[in-house]
Amino acid sequence: KPIVIITIGMAGSGKTTFVQRMNSYLNSLEPPQAPYVLNLDPAVTSTPFDANIDIRDTVNYKEVMKQYNLGPNGGILTALNLFTTKFDQVLGLIEKRADNLRQAAISHVILDTPGQIEIFTWSASGAIITDAVASSFPTVVAYIIDTPRTTAPATFMSNMLYACSILYKTKLPFILVFNKTDVERHDFALEWMTDFEAFQAALANHANSRDSEGEPTYMNSLMNSMSLVLDEFYKHLKAVGVSSLTGDGMKEFFEAVEASREEYEKEYLPELERVK
Ligand code: GDP
Ligand code: MG
Repeated sequence: KPIVIITIGMAGSGKTTFVQRMNSYLNSLEPPQAPYVLNLDPAVTSTPFDANIDIRDTVNYKEVMKQYNLGPNGGILTALNLFTTKFDQVLGLIEKRADNLRQAAISHVILDTPGQIEIFTWSASGAIITDAVASSFPTVVAYIIDTPRTTAPATFMSNMLYACSILYKTKLPFILVFNKTDVERHDFALEWMTDFEAFQAALANHANSRDSEGEPTYMNSLMNSMSLVLDEFYKHLKAVGVSSLTGDGMKEFFEAVEASREEYEKEYLPELERVK
């Protein structure tokens, strides 16, 4: 069975570029493995990859905005909702490609999601699509992080808390993908994730960590206790550094994907059966 990779991340973190990189990486393997790619971003003007299924072929989000008198975000969300009503057909197409005898069976299904993260992660449609793929195929979430923009301890922590909320919502295997390592290496992030004291030291060194009396500020003590929560979160996931620009780290990423397939079978699937 193919494994589904759901690409999630803040706007500009590099989801679309990463999807393109996964596509070219898989095609460059020997023998080549062409993935099945779904574009779920109705507002993207052009994709650097040829999507097998493109939301823009089904719904025109500009038309949706006009017709329902919506702003851009409402338009994107409504377009996603309209597309979701047909998602059973999409699953049917993937199933067909997964055990097609004439064409080479696909090994990966890749989902690119709308630029604005909350449109997918906090909408009914996003949840429906995620649950639908995850109950049919092994599925993993690739959470893309803009590494150069997350070097400040407070930004790092809020990004990790967001990832944490998605992990607990989907309960799926989860890979933190530190993107843009060609601009900024991700070693600092790995250090903060494995060494609690290093993170606390970074927090303390950061501006505004103490008030005029030299006491830790409210924000600082809040972040200190939050980082204890995150410590638990880090134990449940894998982290890799990649550059979607150069292709660096892609081998490690796909190793994490394979490990996630096992995790899906051992942990997610039994839970799914139990709930059924
Ligand atoms: P999305 O909104 O998450 O889909 O982000 P995009 O894929 O559209 O990328 C946002 C910007 O980041 C674009 O200008 C990309 O060229 C740039 N970008 C993406 N990945 C990388 C990378 O690995 N390295 C560098 N230097 N830039 C990147
Ligand atoms: Mg994009």
